[in-house]
Amino acid sequence: MVERQVTRIITPGTVIESSMLDEGKNNYLCVICHGVKNVGVVFADCSTGEFYATHVSGSDASARILNELSRFRPSEILMNEACRSDAVLTEFLSSRLQAASQYIGDEWFDIATASQTVLSQFSVKVLSELGLAEAPETVSAAGCLLAYLKATQMGGLEMYSDVQYMQLDLTARRNLELVETMRNKEKRGSLLGVLDRTRTAMGKRLIRSWIERPLIGLVPISRRHNAVDELVHHTMLRTEIRELLSSIYDLERIMTRVVYGSANAKELRSLAQTIRHVQPIKEMLTSASSAMLCDIEKAIDPLEDVRDLIERAIVDEPPFTVREGGMIREGYNAEIDQLNYEMTNGKDIIAQVEAEEKERTGIKTLKVRYNRVFGYYIEVTNSFREQVPEHYIRKQTLANAERYITQELKELEARVLGAKDRIVSLEYQLFSEVRQTVAEQLHRIQFTAQAIARLDVLCSFAETAVKHHYTRPIMEDSGVIQIKDGRHPVVEDLQNTPFVPNDTMLDSDENRVAVITGPNMAGKSTYMRQTALIVLMAQIGSFVPAETATLGVVDSIFTRVGASDDLASGQSTFMLEMSEVAAILRGATSKSLIVFDEIGRGTSTFDGMSIARAVLEYVIDKKKIGAKTLFATHYHELTVMEQELQGVKNYNIAVKKRGDDITFLRRIIRGPADDSYGIEVAKLAGIPDAVVSRAKEILRSLDEEGVVMPLRTKERFDDRSAEDQGGQLSLLPMAENGVMERLRMIDVNTLTPIEALQTLYELVKEAQSM
Ligand code: ATP
Repeated sequence: MVERQVTRIITPGTVIESSMLDEGKNNYLCVICHGVKNVGVVFADCSTGEFYATHVSGSDASARILNELSRFRPSEILMNEACRSDAVLTEFLSSRLQAASQYIGDEWFDIATASQTVLSQFSVKVLSELGLAEAPETVSAAGCLLAYLKATQMGGLEMYSDVQYMQLDLTARRNLELVETMRNKEKRGSLLGVLDRTRTAMGKRLIRSWIERPLIGLVPISRRHNAVDELVHHTMLRTEIRELLSSIYDLERIMTRVVYGSANAKELRSLAQTIRHVQPIKEMLTSASSAMLCDIEKAIDPLEDVRDLIERAIVDEPPFTVREGGMIREGYNAEIDQLNYEMTNGKDIIAQVEAEEKERTGIKTLKVRYNRVFGYYIEVTNSFREQVPEHYIRKQTLANAERYITQELKELEARVLGAKDRIVSLEYQLFSEVRQTVAEQLHRIQFTAQAIARLDVLCSFAETAVKHHYTRPIMEDSGVIQIKDGRHPVVEDLQNTPFVPNDTMLDSDENRVAVITGPNMAGKSTYMRQTALIVLMAQIGSFVPAETATLGVVDSIFTRVGASDDLASGQSTFMLEMSEVAAILRGATSKSLIVFDEIGRGTSTFDGMSIARAVLEYVIDKKKIGAKTLFATHYHELTVMEQELQGVKNYNIAVKKRGDDITFLRRIIRGPADDSYGIEVAKLAGIPDAVVSRAKEILRSLDEEGVVMPLRTKERFDDRSAEDQGGQLSLLPMAENGVMERLRMIDVNTLTPIEALQTLYELVKEAQSM
């Protein structure tokens, strides 16, 4: 009978099997503990041993929690009962986050128990050592999480504060398509898709987290740039390191399984193999001169003892299972070697016993035989019965022979027949000891894994910089964003046609707000996002797609882009737009970069324009916000702000108009656009000629008389018969009919070039006079 019991409960946030996880993503379990005023939030990835805790307070606590949730994207969330009354959180969880969430009893959050659990887990005497003295909600959340994980052993607690990182809310992360595209949620087409050339699973996870958490300190940013710079210029170093990185297994996840006691011998061999590649990486880095690469070199532990133990103890190709032997290498343990010898040489050993007994008793016909009833026995024919020694125990009498056993023979039999079982259990015991010894080196191995991950991401930045001709940005503590020939990293990568570079000039003074006008499809969104992405790339430590870039560090990037209905959360387009604008106005500071791609389009023209202008006035006011802002709009009326407000500059995206057709030049130039070209773009998009012509007519009458010219009865759109006969003419005003009539009469084949020019001239003149 096998005793049955539940040995582990697997939940979405506690999975550690690599087969069930995406190697490029962390798998976080999150606990939220709402107190009276403050909220404690902790995240742990049991598959890598990472643990993060933070304490959120203030009036925007809910918004910051949503930010953290969208950054970490946990797969499972546990909350205390008080969270039920947080309507914003509840709504976010049900509509925006794909995570298993549940409220669990308050006993899980008991502060006394939690404090003890946290202190002992992280081997500290007082909570202040972890920065948690003033954060009881965070302690409760951490205690709950640790209790939930119970057997999980983890690395150090990193108390992080979001002050070190750039503020990037969910909307900005989504709109800038940092790690996935908005439409298909795919990596291809996102910034991550362009930048990620990492070779290890640890690097893959880290690059994602760097992209989502840009730095705001000049020193740490420069450290990364210096390292990338060195790797960009030392092609050999970069290439060789990247080659070695390809052979590095997921150390963090292997170690979690080692610590859990679920890693098999194959995984230990992979660990040893990885350690073999770590040593040459460390050696290569000794020639590096940038501080960050030197620190990585120091942080990489050669782990020779761990590798040596595994290689001495475990065979090259061990089986998947750990319960059937075949794992321990010959020479590692004398007893296993002896048992293996006995098992494989069982027959020889018996033959040897037979020869010895013959010799000792002088019975020439003595035989050692085997049957199922009493195992190995000695058979002596009747003629030698007298010579049988005293200690032989008779077992059976046959017609012409007697069968005996001896104590010695029975012991041997037990050894030969039991060798297999003994080997299996002894091997498992030895393997477990090796695994335990390796587990005790968790911190050294984790430390090395993190250093490797950092190196991998830096190499990836360098490789992308070389492949895409990025340059090192000059970072400053000023308010300037000056980019020469900037490009959109993703559009230039995916688009077949050449990308047209553009300059950007923003500062905290004369160039605080750039109002950008120009037709749809001209490239306004691309231009604004490219500026935001260049700033963000610089602050994660990457080089940037530009000829040159001088960038003052920004503390946050906010975006309000396009109209995206969010029916799932029950908000209309306009409501959503306004709540996004409200969040920006609440959160932005004079060191922020704001991208407004249209404001006020979801309501009536005058309403929308008024809101847009008021928002701009608020943003530009140094006493209120004074942030650097890119503002794309179709409200040409707003371009007068350049004359009225200090700090506003008009830009437009150049187009070339030829007759009714327009060509997008993709160049950003100073000044307001001369026209919206909305009708021309509509025509390009395939709107029927009849509608296009009528739209022009209405526009003209609006421009001239401020009213919509009514349709004459005989020119109704539903006059399909005319259209079917190619007769869209009936929808046009009389004068235009005349031009069309003349055009129809012309026989191009009989015209001389001069006549053609003359006719064209007359037609244009006539058309212009309409
Ligand atoms: P709308 O107002 O309709 O949103 P838009 O002015 O914001 O339009 P974008 O969406 O930015 O236009 O650009 C339209 C397309 O033009 C892009 O998808 C891209 O393919 C191309 N494009 C934009 N900028 C450039 C550029 N600098 N060089 C080359 N192609 C570009």
